[in-house]
Amino acid sequence: MQRKIKLILSLLVLSIPLVILNNLGVFDRFVSEKHTESETQEPVTVPLAREAQLKYGLPVDSFVLIDNVIDNGESFGNILLDFGIDYAMIHRIATEFKDVFDVRNLRSGKDYTIFAENRDSLNVARYMVYKSSATDYVVFDLRDTGNVYLGEEEVSIKEKSISGVINSSLYEGLIEQGGSPALAVELSKVYAWTIDFFRIQPGDYFKLIYEEKFIQDSISVGMGRILAADFHHNGRSFYSFWFDNDTTYRDYFDEKGRSLRKAFLKAPLDFFRISSRFNPRRFHPVLKRVKPHLGTDYAAPHGTPIMSTADGEVIAASYTRGNGNYVKVRHNSTYTTQYLHMSKFAKGVKKGSRVRQGDVIGYVGSTGLATGPHVCYRFWVNGKQVDPLRQDLPEAEPITEEYIEDYNSFMESLKVRIDALALPLDEPNDPKLRLASLRS
Ligand SMILES: [Zn+2]
Repeated sequence: MQRKIKLILSLLVLSIPLVILNNLGVFDRFVSEKHTESETQEPVTVPLAREAQLKYGLPVDSFVLIDNVIDNGESFGNILLDFGIDYAMIHRIATEFKDVFDVRNLRSGKDYTIFAENRDSLNVARYMVYKSSATDYVVFDLRDTGNVYLGEEEVSIKEKSISGVINSSLYEGLIEQGGSPALAVELSKVYAWTIDFFRIQPGDYFKLIYEEKFIQDSISVGMGRILAADFHHNGRSFYSFWFDNDTTYRDYFDEKGRSLRKAFLKAPLDFFRISSRFNPRRFHPVLKRVKPHLGTDYAAPHGTPIMSTADGEVIAASYTRGNGNYVKVRHNSTYTTQYLHMSKFAKGVKKGSRVRQGDVIGYVGSTGLATGPHVCYRFWVNGKQVDPLRQDLPEAEPITEEYIEDYNSFMESLKVRIDALALPLDEPNDPKLRLASLRS
């Protein structure tokens, strides 16, 4: 059987008779070896902690551990036959425990670990542990009459911090300092309403405190939430603090308790091209006369999700010859928006339903009078149609007086920590000076 063997002999217990080793009794050594086809590392010897070490709930010091990855086309049976398991056991596991885990669902590229006993220099599997996700696993107990059960790794959350000066883009700045792409995406979401990330100035900097999730205390399985940030842009600090008081708030606010969100998204789509702007004096090319265009046209591929730009109530989800499929949302007594030419409505969107900002309400199409797939976005202020791109739109609600004291005490302790984060290169918090010194 040709397989890329990535063998980790996690542990080797050497039991040496008392007679030979004075009064030491059993002498444990922890030997870790890693072989691949292309490289061989020197064995590393690490002293073994006295308490029993568990992995997936199994005592590692009783077995030889072999870590591997499921190859393309490799089956449960293929793997275990190589480790001295007979057809009868393989068949029993595959049939009797199908409801716990169907072995046909093993996926190539996923990790597994064999817990083996070494008999006459042959590794005989006692358990196989299949990692179905970063945190979930399946244990195949291959002893006696066999057993299969599911397990979940304990996830611990650690707070981490990162800071850096942005020389080219936020993304590169974060990566340079050891941040992940996911962190860059999260940060851009936090500031989506505040900062135009395409207009980053040299000398802008960031300081972040965020959560990272770990299993087995050291293996990162992704990031949690950004807890606090200072995004210093164009000579000004933009703070954000994640405030979750279990009842009223689960959102980001600045140092004054103002929401980082605006009441309206800039556009009802994520990716688009503006094909026609609001224009009360548009000369219609076909009709050869002035015919006002009281919306903004966003061209996007057929089927692109259309979002409600603010919280509100759907007051129409209907069809007319001109509008095609359209949705109209009333946000409050001042603002109403409308979205035209949809190919279809999102599930559950109908007159009377409540929507949150960013909820998908339909999909781009070209129903009604439309020449190509686009959404015509219309915006009313106090019953009058206006150009949303020219409005100074309101911010989302700030923290109310009732909660501001709670917020302030929570926020201030985080702010002290954020302010205390040093920028790389030990310079005081003046990135412009730092940048100048780098360039001179
Ligand atoms: Zn239009």
